[in-house]
Amino acid sequence: MSKTIIIGGVAAGAGTATRLRRLKEEEDIILFERGEYISYANCGLPYHVGDVIDDREMLLVTKLQVMKSRYGIDVRNNSEVVKIDRENKKVTVRTKGIEKKEYEESYDNLVIATGSSPIRPRIEGIDSEKIMTLWTVPDTDKIVNILKMKKAKKVAVVGGGFIGIEMTENLKNVGLEVSLIEAADQVMAPMDIEMAQLLHKNIRKNQIDLHLGDGVSKFVENENNITVELSSGKKITVDFVVLSIGVRPNSQLAKEAGLEINERGGIKVDNNLRTSDKNIYAAGDVIEVTDFIFKDKTMVPLAGPANKQARIVADNIAGIKSTYKGTQGSSIAKVFDYAAASTGANEKTLQKRGLVRDKDYKSIIITQNSHAAYYPGAKPLFLKLIFSMDGNKIFGAQIIGNEMVDKRIDTIATAIRFNASVFDLTELELSYAPPFSSAKDPVNMAGYVAENVINGYEDICEWDELEKNPEAVILDIREKKELEKGFRFEEGINIPLSKLREDYKKLDKEKNYVVFCGIGVRAYNASRILQQKGFKNVKIYPAGLRFYKELYGKN
Ligand SMILES: Cc1cc2nc3c(=O)[nH]c(=O)nc-3n(C[C@H](O)[C@H](O)[C@H](O)COP(=O)(O)OP(=O)(O)OC[C@H]3O[C@@H](n4cnc5c(N)ncnc54)[C@H](O)[C@@H]3O)c2cc1C
Repeated sequence: MSKTIIIGGVAAGAGTATRLRRLKEEEDIILFERGEYISYANCGLPYHVGDVIDDREMLLVTKLQVMKSRYGIDVRNNSEVVKIDRENKKVTVRTKGIEKKEYEESYDNLVIATGSSPIRPRIEGIDSEKIMTLWTVPDTDKIVNILKMKKAKKVAVVGGGFIGIEMTENLKNVGLEVSLIEAADQVMAPMDIEMAQLLHKNIRKNQIDLHLGDGVSKFVENENNITVELSSGKKITVDFVVLSIGVRPNSQLAKEAGLEINERGGIKVDNNLRTSDKNIYAAGDVIEVTDFIFKDKTMVPLAGPANKQARIVADNIAGIKSTYKGTQGSSIAKVFDYAAASTGANEKTLQKRGLVRDKDYKSIIITQNSHAAYYPGAKPLFLKLIFSMDGNKIFGAQIIGNEMVDKRIDTIATAIRFNASVFDLTELELSYAPPFSSAKDPVNMAGYVAENVINGYEDICEWDELEKNPEAVILDIREKKELEKGFRFEEGINIPLSKLREDYKKLDKEKNYVVFCGIGVRAYNASRILQQKGFKNVKIYPAGLRFYKELYGKN
């Protein structure tokens, strides 16, 4: 009988333990967890704070007793592994509680699934007890207790990543005034800046005091509250702070044991998730992974990958050769009434890697409704697709909308996983009835538009084309009635699409035109007319006025 020790009892650790048990009834499996709880739903914690998940017990996915009785796993909570002795294949364990003790345990296979921890940068005042992080069940209990005392009225959330935003929303939902502070010029790093603008607008619409491009310079604890001082000089005084500025891998143990670690602290593993020691595997937030898009190394702390890696580690320990092919970073977050989702690489990442727009890649933004516009309740969504010049590689996608964002991003994530091209997106046969989609689903539509762009049938400009290219002339092709009802440009030319076949003669073929309509579809028709009349420089504004008005705050 061989013996497997697993360090870390949540996503990757618990997943490895249960899969391994299903594969090897005779394996001696010991799971060490330094905290009290194992296998809990970290991803649900913000929603317990916001009282959306009111029953705390619901967060405890597989309780310790179940892990023991159902799976025959020797679970030892409140037990921290403090040393790995690779030579003698032993770990040293320190227990917490009244009977503190230290002992050794031998292994045949060791799995490091120690996850990551929130970063607490060495900013002045950071050690204040009024600064919390949200990572574990006890962290959650602490915040919930503050809320139960009903004394807190104001909170500052530092960090606009997905946990920071989820906390912002949930704290707002329980009645607090929330300031959200982000040092970068946008929230949600997986989104490109123009897509993030939609989120900024929505966050502010929900009465959040949003500070962008303004990092914390220090915290000053006062008797009853705490002041957050920002680099701009602004001061925000609140009852408590939630710090959520990123995570670092818990790899100290592996490092001290001499395992290979990358510069960001991620444990290096091979395709079978084996570390530099053949008897030690690692999975979850603590490992370096292959970037599925670029095939080099990266770190992606997400629950889906951690669970998949757990299965692969268990398989390999059980003698089933199983490989991890990489992480593409598919993620989604609820941002008040929006869902914001992404998969693969964004444009910022491509540019950081030295790729140049219109030389190495192209991107499009489209807007469509969540389902057929004529069926009640359709809501707009915005979809950005980034792809290679020949369309054979999809680098990534981002979608923001009120509903049905998840199914579209998952379709594109699946397409990327199977190395589909943008042309394949046009061919996907997706389920349709009016309450659910359109006969041309937004994913098909993204494929069509990308294909048109590649084949030269349409040219979509960047969202900030009018700033970058002041020479460009706005050509608004909406009908007169539409202009009377709402927004109209102060500059530019209006020729309704219905008159364009005649009135194009009023336009100068030498000029650059940016064509606007409501959502970009009629602008495409207009650009086809103009192109076929010999115009060479006609670009379509991405996702039309619907997107432009969101970006530039127009009504
Ligand atoms: C609030 C929150 C919301 C999230 N929301 C999402 C989401 O919506 N979607 C998503 O994909 N991801 C989300 N995540 C991230 C996701 O939870 C993690 O990526 C995932 O849990 C990683 O799994 P893991 O097993 O590697 O690490 P963890 O789940 O962190 O587990 C590691 C465990 O190892 C234990 N440990 C560490 N060192 C030792 C030691 N020396 N000895 C014993 N035990 C040790 C730790 O106590 C910890 O319990 C969220 C995370 C948080 C905190």
